[in-house]
Amino acid sequence: MDDNICLMCSFGGSTCVMRTDLYTSFVDVQRFVLAKWRSLRLGRFDLFYSLFGHTKIMLENDEDLKNMFCIGSRYGILQFDIEVVNNCDMDLDNHCMENSRSLVGQEFDGRETDLLLSYCFHKEKTLLSASWVNLIKKVGQCFKDGVVEFRESLRKYSVEIGFDYDYVRNEPGRVTAECKMKERRGCMWQVHARMERSNGCFYIRELNNVHTCGAALRTTKHKRMGSNIVSSEFVEVLRGKPLISPIEVRRDFKTKYGLDISYSNVWMGIEKARTSLYGDNSESFEQLRWFIEEATRTNPGSIFVLDVDEDSNQFKRFFASFSACINGFKYCRPMLFVDGTFLKSRYKGQLLAATAKDGNQGLFPLAFAVVDSESKENWRWFFKNLLEVVGDERQITFISDRNNGLKSALSKVFPNAYHAYCLHHLKINLRDNVRGHKSFKDRMVFLFRECAYAPTEYKFQEKLSDLLEEGKEQVEYFLNDCPFQCWSNVYFEG
Ligand SMILES: [Zn+2]
Repeated sequence: MDDNICLMCSFGGSTCVMRTDLYTSFVDVQRFVLAKWRSLRLGRFDLFYSLFGHTKIMLENDEDLKNMFCIGSRYGILQFDIEVVNNCDMDLDNHCMENSRSLVGQEFDGRETDLLLSYCFHKEKTLLSASWVNLIKKVGQCFKDGVVEFRESLRKYSVEIGFDYDYVRNEPGRVTAECKMKERRGCMWQVHARMERSNGCFYIRELNNVHTCGAALRTTKHKRMGSNIVSSEFVEVLRGKPLISPIEVRRDFKTKYGLDISYSNVWMGIEKARTSLYGDNSESFEQLRWFIEEATRTNPGSIFVLDVDEDSNQFKRFFASFSACINGFKYCRPMLFVDGTFLKSRYKGQLLAATAKDGNQGLFPLAFAVVDSESKENWRWFFKNLLEVVGDERQITFISDRNNGLKSALSKVFPNAYHAYCLHHLKINLRDNVRGHKSFKDRMVFLFRECAYAPTEYKFQEKLSDLLEEGKEQVEYFLNDCPFQCWSNVYFEG
């Protein structure tokens, strides 16, 4: 679909080329840019590309990237100019510099600016973490969710105030913590909380809330700023935006909370939040049987197939087609796009899908399956189930890439169906197959396209002989594997 699109990334007068493939993610692009231009900082630059007169189309996440690839594939665009723009908020930073200058007067130097910048950043706007200072307030304060809530509050409080602590005692029924600087600087900050047996709540029983260590200065980085805080703060965001990427969350923490968190902590935090919202991934697999029962009861006529490994009783693959889709397809043209794509959850696997087109040229999903890989055996299993869905009354045209497993499985299960290859894929394959200068490759792809679109047999043969004459055995070899009826207008039978 989108392999081999090149991104021409430019920043500060130089350009670097990044080759993408099916698995290139937004993070990969960011990493590429960061590796090429060392002066850039994560979260401090934006990416834009231009298309059809729009000069600043923003790339912010995987979805944007996918859209760009999609447009590229639709219009046959094989390279995009990506503009890297430093978004470091100059006004804010200048303002901070002013402040820091006036604060430290003559002693102003680089080291202090760093410290003051982060300090100043925090002062400039009200950050979402500002309310965390009230999480640990006074003796008698109650934490309804017991020890979990108390620990969480203590963690956030220490991040916001800017100190670290040690647990002297850390049990489900009681917790005592003291400032980490107790030994070294004699700081007496301490909190002690206990569970009340009658109601299960946690109450602060003792609190010395004064730091004499001088270490209580909020910074953008904090050891306690881990995945638990990410999880608790982002659960609600995740509910509305389930596919939010770790990079986005990380950037949000930087701008809204003024905090730097490592990528791994953000990733883990999102996983935890997801688990608390939707249950564990592994549980979801366990619930499949229940889902099938319920979905069959409420959607009679649907086809669900769950395949489980007999020896280990582990999930193997799952096929689903809802009755509404099965019935709807009877009124669509007998044409199905089949393709596989990677799943990104912790358990990976692949999604196979058959999609039709409705009367409004919209996509009409007919069936999908989750399998471990795009193997011949899995495609065969998929088509066998699909045959149950579509029946054999209509002769169907399948459109796909030239995945080998798919190709042979399709011809076995649907021996009478027409199979068309996606022209865009073929063009990319051809370009990869011929060796030579770019202009030669372009010429070959151009002639190939002419053949594909040729309206009469005569025209086709004419263009084909051009193609073969110029491309010689390189093209011949490529065409051996592509029967004419699979890609040319003239010979296609469907
Ligand atoms: Zn202290």
